[in-house]
Amino acid sequence: MLFLKLLLFFSFFSFIFSHDAIFNPHLFPRPLIIQHPEDIETQFRELEEDIKLQCTSWRFSVEANNLSPWKTIPQECLGYVKDYMTGRGYKVDLERVSNEAGVYAKTLQLSGDGKDVWIFDIDETLLSNLPYYIEHGYGLEIFDPIEFDKWVQRGMAPAIEPSLKLYDKILDLGFKIFLLTGRSEQHRSITIENLTKAGFRTWDKLILRDTEHHGKLATVFKSEKRSEMVEAGYRILGNSGDQWSDLLGGAPSIRSFKLPNPMYYIP
Ligand SMILES: [Mg+2]
Repeated sequence: MLFLKLLLFFSFFSFIFSHDAIFNPHLFPRPLIIQHPEDIETQFRELEEDIKLQCTSWRFSVEANNLSPWKTIPQECLGYVKDYMTGRGYKVDLERVSNEAGVYAKTLQLSGDGKDVWIFDIDETLLSNLPYYIEHGYGLEIFDPIEFDKWVQRGMAPAIEPSLKLYDKILDLGFKIFLLTGRSEQHRSITIENLTKAGFRTWDKLILRDTEHHGKLATVFKSEKRSEMVEAGYRILGNSGDQWSDLLGGAPSIRSFKLPNPMYYIP
């Protein structure tokens, strides 16, 4: 066996170093191009940079509400969204929106009649579902309401810290705080438990979706609820939400603050 292997080895070398083998172009139909490892590294780096640029552009379109309704993040942006959500980027963006909202809130002269309102959304505004989305591809998986409800029922969502800071400031300034969420009425008690555990001290109203509002677009549901507030004599001075459907539509707030969220879209 060893003899056979040696024979094959020497036959191969005698073949490729033979005159005909070297100069006969038919044996090598295309020129051999040796790529240096540095070239491959450069190409790889350029490709990575291009994906990052494309995904940054995609995220900008998400935040500016320029995209058509979308169901999942782009496959190629999984790493990008993961890095953004778990790295410094998301935190810095949250801090900025919270700080800006706080600066604005301080400039307002409240009437003192108890009718000045700040609205907060809950999910990805006060409470973070990032632990759930880490387990579900950062928005790459199609949203599964049954699985998500199981997570909500655990009542383990942590506070979004910059929002908690803003929340305390808004409370101290004397605003009425209305929580307006797309969560179902059946999650009322666990939502209260979760909010309290996460450090949200108190609020004036917690408005969830009752059966009458199931199936309605969030934009419609939230607009209706804001209109009811205005009809009741409240002045909506500030509104914080991670979805444009928290902020757009009827009876809008004087100023709205959009928190970042590149993981999902709610119309
Ligand atoms: Mg939300």
